[in-house]
Amino acid sequence: VVQLDNIHKSFGLLEVLKGVSLTAHEGDVIALIGASGSGKSTMLRCTNLLEVPNSGRILIGNEEIRLKPDGHGAMSVADQKQLQRIRSRLGMVFQSFNLWAHRTVLENVIEAPVHVLGESKAEAIAHAEQLLHKVGLYAKKDVYPAFLSGGQQQRAAIARALAIRPKVMLFDEPTSALDPELVGEVLKVIRDLAAEGRTMLLVTHEMAFARDVANHVMYLYNGNVEEEGPPQKVFGNPNSERCRQFVTPRQ
Ligand code: ATP
Ligand code: MG
Repeated sequence: VVQLDNIHKSFGLLEVLKGVSLTAHEGDVIALIGASGSGKSTMLRCTNLLEVPNSGRILIGNEEIRLKPDGHGAMSVADQKQLQRIRSRLGMVFQSFNLWAHRTVLENVIEAPVHVLGESKAEAIAHAEQLLHKVGLYAKKDVYPAFLSGGQQQRAAIARALAIRPKVMLFDEPTSALDPELVGEVLKVIRDLAAEGRTMLLVTHEMAFARDVANHVMYLYNGNVEEEGPPQKVFGNPNSERCRQFVTPRQ
């Protein structure tokens, strides 16, 4: 279970999250949608403490993250060990793939299991090969990222995120840096993960995909969750007029 409870986050004077809450149970696929600047990425980044909220509670797997004042009017994580433990339960995939350029695909995937989680190299390689099969990249395992297409790089990044055996996957616009013809192959991998019953939080501009793959959709507007519910409701019959405008394809 992932739970965000009444999260506030400001950058200086700019209040970006104004009390947002979210609960993801096991197997939930939650899509976060909304206009640029509405706070989607910040909400996702608060989930794995890449950003520390100013107030509110975060629970990952029933464990509440302990925060303390950082002495400058904001908050910081109180316990670094806890942070490491929480991070190891969350796999994150960003818009930009962030692969290590000087390592092969396989080396990218085994990096965290070997150096952070202390898996044996043999064990990590066996698991990595299995994951690369899953994302359709086994044949490229010994290739350097620069020789891959954007879609292949993003699939490698997904395999790398899965390698830590996360309980929850976080995706921040995983296809928005891709050429249109490469979007489908990445969405297919994410769709397969959803079909396996993985718990996922997904920021996306792909409305048709969100509607299809998510069981819960949250529409953010200006730092608030303005509308949420099952996709049929949010896309088909939202209460918020702004949400309706946002999800209605423009001619
Ligand atoms: P997009 O669809 O463009 O990715 P978003 O919904 O993900 O938008 P956020 O990235 O969460 O939006 O940003 C929300 C607001 O917070 C924006 O106004 C942004 O400029 C601001 N912001 C985000 N990160 C920072 C930061 N580290 N420092 C200062 N301002 C920030
Ligand atoms: Mg964003």
